[in-house]
Amino acid sequence: MAAPGRRPVPAAGMRRTAPDPAPVTGAELPSLRETVARHGLDARKSLGQHFLLDPAVCARIAALAGALDGRHVIEVGPGPGGLTRALLATPAAEVVAVELDRRAVAALAELAAAHPGRLRVVEGDALKADPAALVPAPRKIVANLPYNVATPLLVGWLRGAAALEGMTLMFQQEVAERICAAPDTEAYGRLSVLAQWRCRCDMLLRLPPGAFSPPPKVWSAVVGLTPHAEDPGPALFAAMERTTAAAFGQRRKMLRGALKSLGDAEGLLAAAGIDGARRAETLSVAEFDTLARALLARG
Ligand code: SAM
Repeated sequence: MAAPGRRPVPAAGMRRTAPDPAPVTGAELPSLRETVARHGLDARKSLGQHFLLDPAVCARIAALAGALDGRHVIEVGPGPGGLTRALLATPAAEVVAVELDRRAVAALAELAAAHPGRLRVVEGDALKADPAALVPAPRKIVANLPYNVATPLLVGWLRGAAALEGMTLMFQQEVAERICAAPDTEAYGRLSVLAQWRCRCDMLLRLPPGAFSPPPKVWSAVVGLTPHAEDPGPALFAAMERTTAAAFGQRRKMLRGALKSLGDAEGLLAAAGIDGARRAETLSVAEFDTLARALLARG
């Protein structure tokens, strides 16, 4: 019997019935540029493709995700796999990468072979994937997001944030600023309230267009989102979505006008103890929480 972990050595004169391919190791992988060229991965605008081809930048983003040992990491849109390689270089238990582009899925096969049992590539639309169903806890999402669907992806993950330990996500800088914005600023809006209500949000890194291939028109930024311990549950989350949509849908109006679509705006504002002459952008996240709870309580 062969020693554990070692292949049996064929006796002299015997021929192997099948060739024994040597596994590709991480060090032997082609460069990311070669991967792009070999698999014809010319970037498609419709898929929001702006690739990170500098391993040092990818390693920096993976490091921003914090401790990954034993964590199950979900990556959305691995593309040619630069960030995926960096994530696989951490002690993460596994990386599950969801990718819509079949060409990229094929390009990642070699990477999966180099990391047996640690990389699973799922071909499909991340908008339809449930992180809790993809991997067991503890779960983290780390991604350079396709900008065209970044906001709906984030809102979906915020809805299910209780199942996540954290998210480290690259957005267009303008979206990242909206996520982290404080009240009484131009950038403060529905996304700021939803994100900060469910998570601590930290602006971690800004990257110029030249960091990507092809370069986007705008700067990008990585945001760290750490879910708060309290889970509001689906009914209160839905109430918060309705409240923020109404309030910021007409952000220049006083709240007593902006919230009319929710019915009895005056009664709602009175129940929450909020002056109806105020505008949405002046309300803190805690005041939005009170309003959403009042809406839910009213039924
Ligand atoms: N992670 C790679 C990198 O940093 O080089 C690629 C990032 S690129 C900004 C976004 C990736 O998301 C692309 O590979 C694109 O094909 C993929 N993508 C776009 N829409 C998607 C969706 N709905 N579900 C899953 N992947 C998607």
